[in-house]
Amino acid sequence: MENLKEKVVLITGASSGIGEATARLLARHGAKVVLVARREERLHRIVEEMKRDGGQAAYVTANVASREDMQQAVEFASERYGRVDVLVNNAGIMPVSRLHDLKVEDWDQMIDVNIKGVLNGIAAVLPTMRTQKSGHVIIVSSVAGYEVSPTSAVYSGTKFAVRAIAEGLRKEESQESRIRSTIISPGITDTELMQTVSSPEVQAMAEQLKGLAISPDSIARAIAFAINEPEDTSVNEMIIRPTLQP
Ligand code: NDP
Repeated sequence: MENLKEKVVLITGASSGIGEATARLLARHGAKVVLVARREERLHRIVEEMKRDGGQAAYVTANVASREDMQQAVEFASERYGRVDVLVNNAGIMPVSRLHDLKVEDWDQMIDVNIKGVLNGIAAVLPTMRTQKSGHVIIVSSVAGYEVSPTSAVYSGTKFAVRAIAEGLRKEESQESRIRSTIISPGITDTELMQTVSSPEVQAMAEQLKGLAISPDSIARAIAFAINEPEDTSVNEMIIRPTLQP
């Protein structure tokens, strides 16, 4: 993982789960990591632990649904480390339910965090990466970004959408600015995500599937692989499922 050394990586949703595991792994390989999320006490504790382990890390609190917050997060990373090499748009929520339940506020929130959050990250980082004539935008989609099941219509919609955004970014920026674009699509992963599920139907289903879940470290390794590839190689899509996931 030689190419991770000294890379400046901003990770959203780094206060738990996949984002936290990715932050810790990249820092262990010498990256300079900026962790972004809303829960400050978590971020503070994780960063202190990463530093104790010899890592270079800092955090900034931000709500990805706020364009200003994401702007400030990128400015913080640029000022602290002088550039931004990689943005990992990982923050996400999954309050799934059937459409007829009309949980329209949950729909709005999923769109705000899972789609607009990604766009806010791209808006904040793109001018810097274009000036650098290098950069890498990673977006965490999902297996639900390829298939839809009852209750997942809106969540899947957000995860399909970010795949389109990643591909658009690749088409527009790969030649002009040499910006790499990667979609990472996890299957069932053992994190706190299920805590954002409000529907008892889905909770019961999730309880049954829980035994299959893989560690967030598996997803972190996929992200690290994509970043570590040489600059002339752009890993565009990876799906990482538990072997036993149907
Ligand atoms: P977690 O719930 O453990 O982590 C979600 C992270 O997102 C937290 O750090 C949370 O931090 C952050 N977050 C949520 N809302 C916001 C917000 N408005 N602004 C900033 N940060 C926010 O779940 P995962 O690690 O599983 O989720 C990471 C990504 O992986 C998501 O995009 C999810 O959709 C995707 N995914 C997960 C799968 C799984 O099975 N776990 C499967 C497929 C995809 P805080 O609350 O502190 O802000």
